Amino acid sequence: MTSAQRLSRAAIVGLVVVFIAVSGFALWSTQTTSSAARRAVAASELADHYQQAMKAMIREESLEQTYLKQPSQLVRDEYDTATAALVSELQLVNRDSGDSGRAGTARVLALHELQVQSVHRIFAAADRHDTAAVNLILSQELEPRFTDIAEVLTQYAEAQHDKSVAALTELRSKVSFSATVRPLVFLVGFVLVLLLCWVLRQVRRQLYRQREQAVRDSLHDPLTGLGNRALLAERFDEALHRGSDDSRTGLLLLDLDRFKEINDTLGHHYGDQLLTQIGPRLQRILRAEDTIARLGGDEFAVVLPDITGLDAAMLVAEKLRYALTAPFIVDGLNLQVEASIGVVVSGEHGDDASTLLQHADIAMYVAKKQNIGIFPYDPDADGHTPHKLTLLSDLRRALERRELVLHYQPKISLRSGEVCGVEALVRWQHPQHGLIAPDQFIPLAEHTGLIGPLTDYVLDAALTELHLWSDPSDHIPVAVNLSTRNLLDGRLADKIRALLRHHALAATVLELEVTESALMTDPLRARQTLTQLYDLGIRIAIDDFGVGYSNLSQLKTLPVTHLKIDRSFVTNMDTDPSNAHIVKSVIDLSRNLGITTIAEGVETQATMTALRVAGCDVVQGYYVSRPLPAAELASWLRTRQGRGGGPERRGTPGPALLPISVPI
Ligand code: C2E
Ligand code: MG
Ligand code: MG
Repeated sequence: MTSAQRLSRAAIVGLVVVFIAVSGFALWSTQTTSSAARRAVAASELADHYQQAMKAMIREESLEQTYLKQPSQLVRDEYDTATAALVSELQLVNRDSGDSGRAGTARVLALHELQVQSVHRIFAAADRHDTAAVNLILSQELEPRFTDIAEVLTQYAEAQHDKSVAALTELRSKVSFSATVRPLVFLVGFVLVLLLCWVLRQVRRQLYRQREQAVRDSLHDPLTGLGNRALLAERFDEALHRGSDDSRTGLLLLDLDRFKEINDTLGHHYGDQLLTQIGPRLQRILRAEDTIARLGGDEFAVVLPDITGLDAAMLVAEKLRYALTAPFIVDGLNLQVEASIGVVVSGEHGDDASTLLQHADIAMYVAKKQNIGIFPYDPDADGHTPHKLTLLSDLRRALERRELVLHYQPKISLRSGEVCGVEALVRWQHPQHGLIAPDQFIPLAEHTGLIGPLTDYVLDAALTELHLWSDPSDHIPVAVNLSTRNLLDGRLADKIRALLRHHALAATVLELEVTESALMTDPLRARQTLTQLYDLGIRIAIDDFGVGYSNLSQLKTLPVTHLKIDRSFVTNMDTDPSNAHIVKSVIDLSRNLGITTIAEGVETQATMTALRVAGCDVVQGYYVSRPLPAAELASWLRTRQGRGGGPERRGTPGPALLPISVPI
């Protein structure tokens, strides 16, 4: 979860908490106020009952006096009504008050009961005109009891009055507290809600920006900020679809001519700085609607939508090429580069993006090889490279017809004498020209988009043929060579993972060999791809080590497991002390870095012995065996096993490769 997502979640939780807190407060304050009000009403009603009881008692007393003066049935009835009223009020008090109230009413009711009996007796004495009895009842019963009842009632009524006042005071203070605090709570809640809404808005903006950035990153080259291959494909497709009958879409493919020299001699810092200056320089010549993209390394492409035709595209190409002739200043140094540009135009050189891109690739290749700067694609009339172009279209067909074959060259561990791996080397079984060596067609494929399908083909073939020569329970790993463009393909690791799954093989059966120059063309992307491959469990070897310009300390930072010392140092190391010295140094340094060393190009027993003495781990070369087709490798391995193995045994010479049977 990103920090923005965490913040967004916290803000939402905060909003919910504020909502619950404000609602909770509103509920609490309403409930406490209403329960205080209920208590106040009950207390005041009780006080009222005491008042009514007092009144009824006073009325009883006054009616009793009235009767003694003027006896009548009416007064007696009124007296009974007053008595019933007093009893009823006291019963209400009894119902609504607590234990102490009930004790009081019980006492008053008992006294009142006696009082009523005395009153009835005094009424009877009055009816008999027995003044003596009247006076006696009056002074000995009624008056003292009246005082008692009045005292008890007054005492309870006053206490109840105090309670009622207290309940009212409490109610008033609750109401005034709510009145003061409630707006404050709502205000604080409102401010918090505003604040959290603001936070949410900011977070949403940040997430939006991050999404925009991710989309931008997926379409742009991180070093130069220019579009990448994906953006180019998108814009090119768009332009092709938008183009009308009388307008064309042009595509220029531009490759810098001396860039590798700058990279190799001055270092990548200079190379990178130079690359970042190319885009702005070209941009000045282009229109706003044109798109410039970096395809990788020193290769750029420009889409020219809505142009009149090839002449217009050629003119732009010339302007671009001219713009690059002015020196670039990097850290005070004047750097000069040139560019070779291949030009294609929709309608004239193809209709779909992939054909046009491939033709632009070929045109650029011709421009570079012939050193002519700019070349518009022209397969019929160029007259410059008919063989190469024929070979190129043949190669495309060769892939479809599966004319490419793999030969395998074994590698031997110097420690155990066992075969510890084989390298798959591709050959082209050409129907007319015979077996063609990879040197003759790999560079051609590398300069066009064909190296991608070719590598897929080799990987698939190597894994398919594995069972022909290797024991399924204990596979000997097979190494496949990768080119620069393969390393720059962001989908390579996914493709290889899918391929391994398809063949139900563990990643440890595969090794990949990459050259130093492939690593150095675009170190950032190469590192990304290598790391993905390494994480899959695939071992990585640096091929032809020593002829490039990388150094071991750079390799230390890459996920490299094997290092193959270039055969130009190995083959004659037993006769050339300086080569022997280089080989020894590389072995020593690799050992310190924990990297396994493989010496390629071992042709003699003497070289093998020298390598063993120098501490090399693995050897590969004609002395062990030439590269062999799968079936022959299988019988070579069987024979070797039968003889008990050992690096000293030479393999069969293997089929000779034609140097090249095509005149190029
Ligand atoms: P590499 O990967 O360095 O392969 C080793 C080359 O040295 C092979 O040449 C092999 O036949 C040759 N070799 C092996 N032992 C000896 C020896 O004792 N003496 C001499 N003089 N040469 C020896 P090959 O098969 O002609 O391949 C040449 C290059 O073509 C390879 O160099 C590799 O860079 C490239 N290549 C081959 N197959 C593929 C492939 O499938 N994909 C890619 N991208 N490149 C490939
Ligand atoms: Mg190799
Ligand atoms: Mg090599």
